[in-house]
Amino acid sequence: MAERRNVVALTGAGISVESGIPAFRGTQGLWEKYDPMEYATLHAFVRSPRKVWEMLSEMVSVCGDAAPNAAHKGMAALEKRGVVRAVITQNVDGLHQAAGSRRVIEYHGNMETLVCISCWKRYPTRERWRPGTVPLCDCTEILKPDVVLFGEPIPWLAQEQAEEEARTCGVLLVIGTSAQVSPACDIPRIAKESGAAVIEINPEPTSLTASVTDLHLQGTASEVLGCLVGLLRNPANGHP
Ligand code: NAD
Ligand code: ZN
Repeated sequence: MAERRNVVALTGAGISVESGIPAFRGTQGLWEKYDPMEYATLHAFVRSPRKVWEMLSEMVSVCGDAAPNAAHKGMAALEKRGVVRAVITQNVDGLHQAAGSRRVIEYHGNMETLVCISCWKRYPTRERWRPGTVPLCDCTEILKPDVVLFGEPIPWLAQEQAEEEARTCGVLLVIGTSAQVSPACDIPRIAKESGAAVIEINPEPTSLTASVTDLHLQGTASEVLGCLVGLLRNPANGHP
């Protein structure tokens, strides 16, 4: 990372776990109540938006209460120092931007905006949503958060930018993602095939670990990034 510098990160729900936002996989409150495969699909939203809003309301509240943790701040510090070039995030919580990261590619959209799937009007979530209510468009349709639900395509600009970053980076950091959601899980393979070193930061091995990953740094995102930020700061390691 110190030598190559053009580092790109792909982050997933795991980087926000230490901010109090549960990941999909593992045993955590929110997703025990709401199976993402049942609630987080476009099909479910179209069929019964009020039911899906039970889950979405908790997600909006949890994201609204969350603050960036040491891992988000570490990523912002590495960008400021010219080591990290961009963050491609699957997260919808806005915590990378809140920590100060500037080049953030939101692969799955974000919870800050609501969109009408009938007339395509958009609204800031805080303007239209109140706890215990379902947000409505001026056209009376129930609004959807501007996030990519299962069954929806990736926004084309985010897709293009993410693939370009993956093709041209020297190192790809893969942080806190189980790499089971497609097509985000293709990004590490694209980087690897284009010559990048793939470094995974995760307390657990994933489907990438044995096949794509060059180096697995086993630990939580804040622990490992804390070490990396320290090492990359220390002139004794040959880095200015
Ligand atoms: P995932 O839930 O499938 O996997 C989370 C991964 O994070 C696991 O591999 C787990 O071992 C790891 N992990 C757990 N705690 C960690 C920690 N402290 N530090 C580092 N890693 C840790 O997550 P995913 O692969 O991102 O896929 C879930 C999908 O759901 C994504 O598309 C994402 O958009 C969405 N999602 C987003 C949020 C959010 O915005 N914060 C939260 C839940 C789900
Ligand atoms: Zn509308």
